[in-house]
Amino acid sequence: MLYLSTRGHPDRKHFCEILLEGLAPDGGLYLPEQYPQVTPEQLSKWRRLPYPELAFEVLSLYIDDIPAEDLRAICRRTYTEEVFGTKEIVPLEPLEDGVWLEALSNGPTLAFKDMAMQLLGNLFEYELARRGEELNILGATSGDTGSAAEYAMKGKKGVRVFMTSPHGRMSPFQQAQMFSLQDANIHNLAIEGVFDDCQDIVKAVSNDLDFKRKYKIGTVNSINWARLVAQVVYYFAGYFQATKSNAEQVSFTVPSGNFGNICAGHVARMMGLPVDKLVLATNENDVLDEFFRTGIYRVRGGADTYETSSPSMDISKASNFERFVFDLLGRDAGPVKRLFGEELAKNGRFDLSADPVFALARTCYGFRSGKSTHADRLTTIRDTHQRFGVTIDTHTADGLKVARHFVQPGVPMIVLETAQPIKFAATIVEALGHEPDRPTHFQGIEGLPKRVTVLPADAAQVKAFVAAHLS
Ligand SMILES: *Cc1c(COP(=O)(O)O)cnc(C)c1O
Repeated sequence: MLYLSTRGHPDRKHFCEILLEGLAPDGGLYLPEQYPQVTPEQLSKWRRLPYPELAFEVLSLYIDDIPAEDLRAICRRTYTEEVFGTKEIVPLEPLEDGVWLEALSNGPTLAFKDMAMQLLGNLFEYELARRGEELNILGATSGDTGSAAEYAMKGKKGVRVFMTSPHGRMSPFQQAQMFSLQDANIHNLAIEGVFDDCQDIVKAVSNDLDFKRKYKIGTVNSINWARLVAQVVYYFAGYFQATKSNAEQVSFTVPSGNFGNICAGHVARMMGLPVDKLVLATNENDVLDEFFRTGIYRVRGGADTYETSSPSMDISKASNFERFVFDLLGRDAGPVKRLFGEELAKNGRFDLSADPVFALARTCYGFRSGKSTHADRLTTIRDTHQRFGVTIDTHTADGLKVARHFVQPGVPMIVLETAQPIKFAATIVEALGHEPDRPTHFQGIEGLPKRVTVLPADAAQVKAFVAAHLS
């Protein structure tokens, strides 16, 4: 299996080559040359497999430069009951008629990003050891990504994490989760500024190519193909739990920000998983809902990007969206390069409403979309708690609210549960009048000693910190 760039760069690469890279050299995103097709016989066999074995089967279709036995061992080491809390790893629970919740948030940081990041940690350690190299991951986080990266990389050989976050702006629980890590290879940098300042610092450091090379700076952001392909696995696992035979179809609803999670659903569908609809749910930051309704993709400015109570979906643009548009445009890199490389840079928007391919997003690829607001979130959390005794987090509430518009008789609707409510306790209190339950091993974490360095919003000082902490 070889990988190409959505913007047409002539190089073709193997999995482990793109594993440690971010964007392709031409600014495009990596995708496999074609999607491997799953036969009905394979589906029947996979249906009976425990999660780590299913992960191995899916991943081995995409990875031809890690020996099978090593890859299998990595999958078994990653998806354990000890790390993910249950044998199913992603247990499916029925909610109301025809609607199921697939729990993706039982990992170490209680959000779905653990599903991919835990695998990435083990893949990085394996590949760096094989090459005899080291990597210093520099990132910016407002919460979920940074903690998932740190819990995945902590104690891993050959990897250090330098994670910037806006000083004093994450929830106390999120701060405690990250800053209580005492591992020597994890460095928390609280930046005196907002999340954008953190992102600007990461960009400035990455644009200093000499520094980047000398200090082996890398990233783990959501455009990484390995993260995406790890997420494909739980679409299969959700399907198998909701159906009895491969003749049945299901739909998925996915709370979306950067289009990473739902893009994995698109890939699973392209491989032949019997998915009817892929329903995309946004919060007030509705860049993607607008596109799927109108054909217009419009990047938001800072003033039009809202801070919401489902903060992990507060995006101004959707960094994985180019992958889907590449498929939508018949895998023709020319127009993708024009839209994403030129039109977006010049106008901050592009318009496919008059292009006949736009209709294919619905008809051929099964996409639907909807939007949810703070008031919807509160209503949905309250209603789900009252009727079923289940407390859902704010992002999952956005998904469930939108899912209800698209439920069809006879087609199970699987809503992806992307975080646990304790991470967003303030909104749960607003909705229910009391705090959500806290998993026992998170009792009292706010009181643990914190390991964090406060720095001004200055790339030079972050560089100096990295350079001084390489042992
Ligand atoms: C990251 C995140 C999302 C959005 O996922 P994308 O892959 O960016 O679409 C949704 N919910 C939670 C809890 C998240 O952490």
